[in-house]
Amino acid sequence: MSDSAIHLSAVVIGGGPAGLMVAEQLSKAGIIVDLYDAMPTVGRKFLRAGIGGLNLTHNEHWDDFVGRYSNKSSVLKPVLDAFTASNLRNWAAELGVETFVGSSGRVFPVEKKAAPLLRRWLSRLRENGVRIHSRHRWLGWNQQDELLIQGPNSSLTVKADLTFFALGGGSWEALGSDGHWLATFAERGISCAKFRPSNCGFEYPWPTDIKSNFSGTPLKSIAISIQDSNGLEWRQRGDAVIANYGIEGGPVYAVSAPMRDAIEQYGKCTIHWDLDPDRSVEKLQQAMAKRRSKDSLANVLRKQCGLNGNKLALFKALTSKEQMADLDVIPALIKNLPQTFTATRPLDEAISTDGGICFSAVDDKLMLKQLPNTYCVGEMLDWEAPTGGYLLTACYATAVWAANAALGERIKS
Ligand SMILES: Cc1cc2nc3c(=O)[nH]c(=O)nc-3n(C[C@H](O)[C@H](O)[C@H](O)COP(=O)(O)OP(=O)(O)OC[C@H]3O[C@@H](n4cnc5c(N)ncnc54)[C@H](O)[C@@H]3O)c2cc1C
Repeated sequence: MSDSAIHLSAVVIGGGPAGLMVAEQLSKAGIIVDLYDAMPTVGRKFLRAGIGGLNLTHNEHWDDFVGRYSNKSSVLKPVLDAFTASNLRNWAAELGVETFVGSSGRVFPVEKKAAPLLRRWLSRLRENGVRIHSRHRWLGWNQQDELLIQGPNSSLTVKADLTFFALGGGSWEALGSDGHWLATFAERGISCAKFRPSNCGFEYPWPTDIKSNFSGTPLKSIAISIQDSNGLEWRQRGDAVIANYGIEGGPVYAVSAPMRDAIEQYGKCTIHWDLDPDRSVEKLQQAMAKRRSKDSLANVLRKQCGLNGNKLALFKALTSKEQMADLDVIPALIKNLPQTFTATRPLDEAISTDGGICFSAVDDKLMLKQLPNTYCVGEMLDWEAPTGGYLLTACYATAVWAANAALGERIKS
């Protein structure tokens, strides 16, 4: 690294994975980094992500991986190519955190949790000289474009050679990602898209028996499909969860973007459940043909069609008496059972958010066009992706990209 880089100073606002990664890249290059975060400790959402298994990235074919960012795939491709899933696994390994590929291709730390990784990471950052200022909230800019920061005891005005915003999305306010910053950027005339829930649950007025007997239970090995407004078919297999309020879980999150978009556009969306993705309609018809004449309908559904527990309850809740009385239509319904939703769960409960700083407001280095030497990284940029490690990978990749682009620029100048 050239001497000119060593004498630079940088401010990072936001201590989630994206902000910490910026701090790491810059401090490695000898830059003095001050990181400010509004919360009493950094990385709170990252730690929460570790509950139930920190899914760092995904092992699928790289083209498919990049495609997960839908209409932002092309803008993010160079960024992701420069910091791939393998780079992320190597980075974790350098921290002493080995990873493994789960059966679905998802990549986790062997210990599954975020806390050991975060502990080691923070200690390495401190060794690199990064100064972390918790309980310091960024409030906006003054007339001179200096950063206004409210600390626990006093307010500060801060200016550095390089500024990085890594303020997160607009969900899980209790963990620091309150999205209040959006209005401050918008007031400055920086293009922002409103936050919308992504990877979220959907509300449904279940009958009482489903609520009382099956809330919180997984609908094992199902598939959900929906057609988006461009006629594209989205389909995801996995275990969905019946929630007290409606539905949630991996396959629901995977199709949550077209579901949310349809609700926004038409006031409702219809998904189709495949309650037996491994058997065709014909196979189900053959199984039903084996029923004995004295078997009750419930028994046929259980024994021949494999509908038990919550799957049977769901099937009954979503079919009419007439449909249930017509044994010929049951196999087709099991494979293509419609359910209509009219509302997402509230924004704050979503795992991530769509919206934030528009890519039109930043250049190809992720620098704000309006504010030289000021960059935006992580979930605060306007992209979305399903769960599966894609969220963290893009947070890290945008951070690495912007930090290195900034360093490259400064070394040139
Ligand atoms: C329950 C749950 C599980 C998840 N599991 C996974 C998973 O397994 N895999 C995956 O890839 N992703 C997962 N995610 C998503 C992932 O955690 C986020 O995408 C990621 O944390 C975003 O990183 P970030 O650094 O951009 O923002 P954040 O992690 O949200 O960090 C933003 C930081 O900015 C600070 N801040 C905000 N405003 C200000 C301000 N005005 N002044 C100062 N500081 C401010 C906040 O306090 C916060 O520390 C999960 C999320 C949740 C909620």
